[in-house]
Amino acid sequence: MEIMVLRRFFVIVFLAFSLNSAFCITNVTHVIHILVDGLSGIYLKKGIDENPSGFPNFGRFVREGACTFNARTDYDYTETLPDTVTTLTARPVIGTPDMPPSAKHLINFNYWNPYVTIHSYGDTNKGYISSVFDVVHDSGMTTGFFSEKDKFQMIVVSYNEVNGGMDLVGEDNGRNKIDFSSIIDTWNNPAVVLSFAEEIQSNHFNYSFVHIADMDYAGHYYGWGTEIWYEQLVVVDQCLGLIFDVIDNDEEFAGKTAIILTADHGGGYPPTTHVYPEYELNYTIPLLVWGAGFTPGSDLYDYFSNRLDPQHSRPDYGYRYQPLRNGDSSNIALSLLGLNPIPGSYMIPIFGQPPAVIKYEIINGFVVLSWKTNSGEYVLEASSSLSANSNWTVVNGNFITDGALYRYSHPIANNAPLLFFRLRKTSDNLMPLNVSQHP
Ligand SMILES: [Zn+2]
Repeated sequence: MEIMVLRRFFVIVFLAFSLNSAFCITNVTHVIHILVDGLSGIYLKKGIDENPSGFPNFGRFVREGACTFNARTDYDYTETLPDTVTTLTARPVIGTPDMPPSAKHLINFNYWNPYVTIHSYGDTNKGYISSVFDVVHDSGMTTGFFSEKDKFQMIVVSYNEVNGGMDLVGEDNGRNKIDFSSIIDTWNNPAVVLSFAEEIQSNHFNYSFVHIADMDYAGHYYGWGTEIWYEQLVVVDQCLGLIFDVIDNDEEFAGKTAIILTADHGGGYPPTTHVYPEYELNYTIPLLVWGAGFTPGSDLYDYFSNRLDPQHSRPDYGYRYQPLRNGDSSNIALSLLGLNPIPGSYMIPIFGQPPAVIKYEIINGFVVLSWKTNSGEYVLEASSSLSANSNWTVVNGNFITDGALYRYSHPIANNAPLLFFRLRKTSDNLMPLNVSQHP
């Protein structure tokens, strides 16, 4: 049980249950994992909302896939190399002191350092830092790596035939975990995406990582969210169109491919940078998933039992309900491919019914409590105390639902006694909710 103390009127108590509703994707054999450098979740959403015809391929993710524009970067870093290593290893950069050394990667610099690998830098106790490339390659599948920044060489070197780990899974597929890599330091030039689109038609990599640098450069030169920044976003949208075209027209890919798109960081506070992790513009990124098995037009937060939309907040690693992060995206890719999570990784979203958590708001003099209907059937209970023998009674009346949320509202009364609320599963033989349908 977790207790939230909120303002002075109420204390909200919520119970969470581990649920095991199965989410099953069986026919994904290829995942394309796109990292759009500096793609702010806030500005991307604004662009799609205000100019949908300008971004038809981002729109395709929204219409046909499961999306959020409110995912998070690493807690401590909103920089390219640290967050990209987080994305590929499912580990925080520095994490917290109580995490084991192997649960963080410690790559806290943002330049090409040819003298280190991901495994050697920072703390020799951390050992080998396994990545999404290890799991895919060790299972006998193929991998590709495409990037627009030279400093990503460090990632390729870390998983080559010298520095990559032993393959202890089934047949020995060798230490070189990245079968093909192409790094072209460029921007405003679709060379990398063109090379990717050409390469995957002859080598149908099971997992490919594609890094597109444009939005970061446009942000540094002209400011995030400016007109020129959005012009560059049109170019990136066209790159996505090229990738969709390849998938749609190649029978090796069509119907069997998922695309996962995220960002290393956002940007825009201050206007031409992103390096301060405490600002919402910098830490808010998209996480878009497209492919068989997802309900078209759905919210990605509805698929995981251990992830919760953080609204505007920036939860640290101690918070019980973690937001979706860029660091979740590799383990999502592996789930879709039917593979286990990255060994030793920390960020493991679990497919299942989302947690039942009460959201608390004050709207026009009313306290409004709401929770998602797809969390399962619960009753709302109230009590005047939190002691062990406190008397919980079912709250009746004034519930409305719009299908997605249950809402209960209660007028604010001055000097009202403290009330505590909790959700209890209806399977515990309690009265069901008295819910009226919203017109
Ligand atoms: Zn940058």
